[in-house]
Order: sequence, then structure tokens, then C-alpha cells
Amino acid sequence: MENQNRQTDVIDRSKQNTEAGKQELYMYSLRKMAEDNVEKNKSPLTQLQNLRSFFYTGGEIIRQHPTEQYALIAMDIAQFKAVNEFCGRDAGDALLAAIAGVFRKLDTERPLTISSHARADVFALLTTYQEEQELIDIVMQIKKVIDDFPIDCKVLPAFGIATSQGEPPAISYLKDCATMALNTIKGKFYASYAFFDEKMRRQQMLEKQIENNIVTALQNGQFALYIQPKVDMATGEIVGGEALVRWVDPEHGVISPGDFLPVLEKNGFVIDLDVYMWEQVFKMQSELLSQGRRPVPVSVNVSRVHAFDKSFCDTLCRLSQRYQVDPSYVPLELTESAFLWDEQGMYRQLEILQSRGFTASMDDFGTGYSTMNMLKNQSMDEVKVDQAFIRDLETNEKSRVVIRHTIRMLQELGTDIIVEGVETEEQKKFLLECGCKAAQGYLFYKPMPWQEFVSLL
Ligand code: C2E
Ligand code: MG
Ligand code: MG
Repeated sequence: MENQNRQTDVIDRSKQNTEAGKQELYMYSLRKMAEDNVEKNKSPLTQLQNLRSFFYTGGEIIRQHPTEQYALIAMDIAQFKAVNEFCGRDAGDALLAAIAGVFRKLDTERPLTISSHARADVFALLTTYQEEQELIDIVMQIKKVIDDFPIDCKVLPAFGIATSQGEPPAISYLKDCATMALNTIKGKFYASYAFFDEKMRRQQMLEKQIENNIVTALQNGQFALYIQPKVDMATGEIVGGEALVRWVDPEHGVISPGDFLPVLEKNGFVIDLDVYMWEQVFKMQSELLSQGRRPVPVSVNVSRVHAFDKSFCDTLCRLSQRYQVDPSYVPLELTESAFLWDEQGMYRQLEILQSRGFTASMDDFGTGYSTMNMLKNQSMDEVKVDQAFIRDLETNEKSRVVIRHTIRMLQELGTDIIVEGVETEEQKKFLLECGCKAAQGYLFYKPMPWQEFVSLL
């Protein structure tokens, strides 16, 4: 393949400053490099091209055959380092050489096909295809060589497949998409390949956009404080609130936390966002107090990422002092996942906060995030029963038994109880019969801008 395009055309210098001219110049330099360094651009171990050279050669194939349908398959082995460590580097190298053998074979057998050994255990293949099944067959062919290879370690390869959609694709974009698909299954023993699909495409665009916009969004005050009232179901009185973030994007409107929090947890920005939200709540409470009004407690969510942030306790105490607001007006909501990383450390921080007057609430009780096991620890002041727990109570007798006894147990343990996501009169009636009074849910109020909440008080 590397010999297929050896024309050394000279760039028209008058075009160099236009976008197209720059692109052409870039391609020219890549081409020169590839031509001059055919041997240097190959991995000595596998005799396959490195990524740069692969991008150039593959890009040329696509340019010269723009009407073909293309696929890029990316491969990576989970924990390949462990294979090297446990079985020895020589065995690791032998495995990589065997894998490269299949890729080289595919290069020669399939039309318009080229492979790359990017680094260590990362391979890629660009090919043309008619049916998706052909691509799955390629994956299985490579996987079989790995499965049959005599080595004493479990080797788990993952494949991501991206296909061109009509237009001739940019090869680096195809590679990014294939890698993204690969990352969704890497290390999972039950899946060996994944296709890049529309959902991933949208997710990828959203994540990129969030990453690009998050800092300006924080600076420009695009994160809004919404509050959902908590009520006493017996009297209808508002007894508190929960602070919930909304991203008000000038272009996309109001975005829910479920859409952007996972991205912020990945890049750590959720810490900045939480601190921003906590400060908004302290500020609001301080304004109410200065007007001589008696605020109700408005709880804030504490992301599990704070487990990695030793200053989170100090930050909360500092805010309480700066705004002269007693911590009892700002309870903390945590899920069990906040304790997974450093359980003892987290309990210590929590105890310090409680000694300063903060209270802690266990969020999402009854889902995988907060379980029975945590109740044995006495340090939670309140349990928030998740909506999932009560959703089917009208239709499921067993569900009613579980709820009734859970509430009894929590009462006996002496923790406060609040139920989230109450949507129907039947749910309200049943919960009141069980002796549970506090609730939060659409039956009473939806989350609202904080100004609206204040005017309700
Ligand atoms: P959460 O803390 O469990 O908050 C309750 C969620 O349930 C909110 O969703 C609320 O709008 C929704 N909800 C309340 N009542 C009902 C109901 O009757 N029916 C239904 N279907 N839903 C109800 P939201 O605002 O989308 O927030 C989702 C999650 O995002 C929150 O769950 C919380 O874990 C997280 N979150 C929200 N704001 C923040 C924040 O400032 N910081 C952090 N770290 N997490 C936040
Ligand atoms: Mg919450
Ligand atoms: Mg919850």
C-alpha cells in the first residue's frame, strides 16, 4: 500500500494562506514524510505502519476512492500491561506479533485495506465493506488468533467499529469514533466489539460541547439554582427544599443535570459546580435572614467526587462563616458512592461537619447508590427514600410490605425519613398511613427557580 502514491507534486504557493491551501500543505508534508520514511514509519516488532503514516495512507485511499463505503476497526487489549508483567515481555511481544500477522493478512487479502500498529496493544484497520457482517467476521478472525494463542493470561481484546455515513470520511474522525465505541466495552468480558452509533455520536458532541463551555458557563452564571420544596404531607406546609442545578444555555435552553453531571464527574469540574451551588444557597439563606425572615433548611447535593477533595469540609465551614448562616439551614445530601473510595476518610470529614452543626442525609436510598448496609452506621441524620422504591406501590402488594417495614425500621433507628418522587394521591395516603410525613415530589411542587421558592415561603 505504501507505494501506491509516489507522485511528488509541488504545492501552489499562492494558495498557502487559504484554508484549503493549508490543508494541502499539511497533506503534502505528511506525504513527503511517509515517502521518505517508509521503513521508519513501521513498527519494528510488527512491520505495520504507525498512526501518522496510517492516517496519511488511509486518507489517500479514501481521497482516491471517495464513493466506497469505509469502516475503521480499532483494537485494544484490556490490561495488556498485566500480560507483560505476568507472562513476560517476550510472551507479550510474541502475542502482538501474532496479532499483527492477521492484520497483515487482511491488508493483502481485502481491497483498499490498510492496518496500523499505533502503540503497544493498539491496532487499527481501515477497510472497505458491503455488509456489517463482514466487519464482525474480521473481528472474530482476529479474536480467534488471540484466543488460540498459547499464553497463561486471560487476554481480553476489545474492538470498536466506526463506519462512514455517505460522505467520504476523515480518517482521524473515524478513528476517534471507533475508539469511543471501543471504550464503551473495554474490559467487559461479555462483549468483544461495539459499533459507533447515533447515540454515541450525540453523546460525543454533547460531551465536547460541555467540556468546551463549562468554564465560561460557570463564569457567566449560566448555572441556575432551582429548588424543589419539601412538604409535610399532613398539612401541606413547606418544611424545606432541595437545591438542584439547571444549566441555562443560551443556545440549547434548560439542560438537566442527568445530561451534564456525568461529564463533569469525569473531568472533576463537578467540584467547582457544587461549591458554586452551595454558595448560592448560603447567599439566599443569608438574604432571607437579613430581611428578618425565618428560612427553611435547603439541602445541597454533594457529589461523590468530593471524596477525592480533602478541602470539602473546610469549604462548607468557610461558607457558613462568611455568610453567617447556621449550618442547620444547609443540610448535605450524599449517596453511598461517596464513601466507596475512602470510607473512613469520608466518615471522618462527615463527623467534623456534624460537629460544626451540619446534618447529613442519605440520598437515593433503595437504589444501588445507597443500601441497607449504610444504615448500620449511625452517622446519617436523615434517609431520603428514592422514587424507585415507591413507584409501583399501588399495583404491587409486596412493594407495600417492603415500604411499610422499611419505614418502621428507619423509625426504630431514629433517623428522619423523607420520600422522594411522590406523584399520586394514593402514594401520599399510603405513606401517611405508614407514619411518614415528609415528602418531595411533583404531586406537591416541581423544582422551580429560587426566587419563586422564596416567594412561596
Ligand atoms: P436527587 O438528588 O435524587 O434529586 C431528585 C431528583 O428527582 C431531581 O431531578 C428532581 O427533579 C426529581 N424529582 C423530584 N420529584 C419528582 C417526581 O415526583 N417525579 C419525578 N419523575 N422526578 C422527581 P434532577 O433535578 O434532574 O436531578 C437529578 C440528580 O442530579 C439529583 O438527584 C442529584 O443527584 C443530581 N444533582 C442535581 N443538582 C445537583 C448539584 O448541584 N450537585 C450535584 N452533585 N448533584 C446534583
Ligand atoms: Mg438529592
Ligand atoms: Mg435522590
